[in-house]
Amino acid sequence: MAGCASLGKGGRVEYITLEATGYCKCGECCGWRRNLLLQPVYAYGPMEGEKKKIGITASGTKAKKGTIAADTSVFPFGTRMRIPGYGDGVVEDRGGAIQGGKIDLFFKTHKQALEWGRQMVTVEVRYP
Ligand SMILES: [Zn+2]
Repeated sequence: MAGCASLGKGGRVEYITLEATGYCKCGECCGWRRNLLLQPVYAYGPMEGEKKKIGITASGTKAKKGTIAADTSVFPFGTRMRIPGYGDGVVEDRGGAIQGGKIDLFFKTHKQALEWGRQMVTVEVRYP
């Protein structure tokens, strides 16, 4: 976790090697299930049983290709990343298991997320 370029605060660029996994909006990837009324609810964690909006990120945006989940204490919302093999994205989401040097990349389908799997990638990071 060492940066090698600095352009001052805001717009600072670093190249960081991160463990990138893939996810989609499905219940398996995002920890939701349907209750008896078939409404989507959190499957576990502190919000268990509470209603969940499917496909809406922690920052309130609609999840789409290019949406990245990260540890926002390291990469705040709005951090842009260029990920080899995936493309450009923005940190708009977070997840319980996504901490430190881990990121999660959004894919449209579960199959695509599985195909990405788990990869170590050197990412160009531009802080907001
Ligand atoms: Zn999925």
